[in-house]
Amino acid sequence: MKNSLFDYDIDYEILEGFDNDMLYQHDIIPLYKEQLFVIVATSKEENDIDKLVDIFNQPIKLIYVEHQELQFEWKNLELKKKLYTFAKKAINYNMQSNNSYILEFIDEVLFFSIKNNVSDIHFECFENSVVLRCRIDGVLNQFFRFNIVLYQVISSTIKYLGNLDLAQKRIPLNSRVTRVVEGINYDIRISTMPTIHGESIVLRILDNGNIDKNLQDIGFEQETLKAIESILTLTQGLVLVTGPTGSGKTTTLYSMLNKVNTKEKKIITIEDPVEYKLDGVVQVNLNPDMDLDYPTVLKNVLRQDPDILLIGEIRDVESLRIAIQASLTGHLVIATLHTNNAIETITRLLDLNAPSYLIAATLKMVISQRLLRLLCENCKEEDVDFTYKSVGCKECNFTGYKNRQVVSEVLKINNEIARLISEYKDVSRIEDYLDTKNFYSLSTNGKKLVDAGKTSYSEFYSKL
Ligand SMILES: [Zn+2]
Repeated sequence: MKNSLFDYDIDYEILEGFDNDMLYQHDIIPLYKEQLFVIVATSKEENDIDKLVDIFNQPIKLIYVEHQELQFEWKNLELKKKLYTFAKKAINYNMQSNNSYILEFIDEVLFFSIKNNVSDIHFECFENSVVLRCRIDGVLNQFFRFNIVLYQVISSTIKYLGNLDLAQKRIPLNSRVTRVVEGINYDIRISTMPTIHGESIVLRILDNGNIDKNLQDIGFEQETLKAIESILTLTQGLVLVTGPTGSGKTTTLYSMLNKVNTKEKKIITIEDPVEYKLDGVVQVNLNPDMDLDYPTVLKNVLRQDPDILLIGEIRDVESLRIAIQASLTGHLVIATLHTNNAIETITRLLDLNAPSYLIAATLKMVISQRLLRLLCENCKEEDVDFTYKSVGCKECNFTGYKNRQVVSEVLKINNEIARLISEYKDVSRIEDYLDTKNFYSLSTNGKKLVDAGKTSYSEFYSKL
């Protein structure tokens, strides 16, 4: 039976003195020493033990792992050796929270993360080890696993960077910090959470480059883009962007604001929290600790005379009530809602006690979206039915995927749909109507990407 390489704490010290090419040629990674033996991972059952014993000059024990795991490990080996060295030095350096080795360690992790499009860096504590995982294109990958002794110094350093109380380990802490990587400022949100084995620490890299996107650069189809742009010229009404967490709603929302952001318009956003700062936009950061909670802000925001109001998320009866009231009184309201598709959005609004005639009068458009991972062009392979499947290579960190593409369905509320909403009995009448109108649903649009060989069926089914 094969083991997983990711379940072992690798002692990177024994890797010193061996070059990567040699390890690669012999299909091995030495993991650690156990009494007289060197424990060595390989993916070849027929690997020549005698030859390996000669290399290590010591008896060895082999464990068998997947070849792809070895490839992933080889690819980042130099960096991991470096991290390991920083970490070791940091521990020897009196465990001071601001010692420079651990700062170098963290900057090295950030550098790797930014280069590889990582959105979140997770440090998780277990009984004997700390695991470092990175989220790329929405999926977590274990990157590094090291001894628990390092955890304390990592935690202290991150808290020190975030200006947080180093001694406080019993409650969740939040902070925000700017780090310069290769001359560019990156905002990083820090979150800590007490767990049974210590704290879990998550760093979110807020990619301002991503948020500055123009609407036409997001990847909407031409027709969709035109429909959204025309809706944004309205002076009143409600526009909803929906989808689960990680479906790219925030990026769409901000790019819509970019589109309407002119000197003649007053735009106010209500966010929890404000992630990206926008020029020329009045952004309100909710802060319940200081009585700046959702209802209070919503109640007062219309007195600030906005033209356009962005509500981060409609989450309850009260926020929907105010969104509708604002859209009825000469404001364009843009908001998100956690629903799976456009039709479900209408039922959700009704479930939130909004009268159907008011929804019919205010709702102008529902954009429902997902982000599908795109197959790595370097390694994808043809599957059955002329579609493509993921494989994995150096280019894509052995995940088989690289970058993501937005897939959407856009329901424009015309007079007929508005009438069907105001006379709402059940969704079937709206569905029947859309069937006659060539409505392109999320799954139709997602399927197009599969047919074009840009994504796989497995990715399609996992998101749609
Ligand atoms: Zn690849």
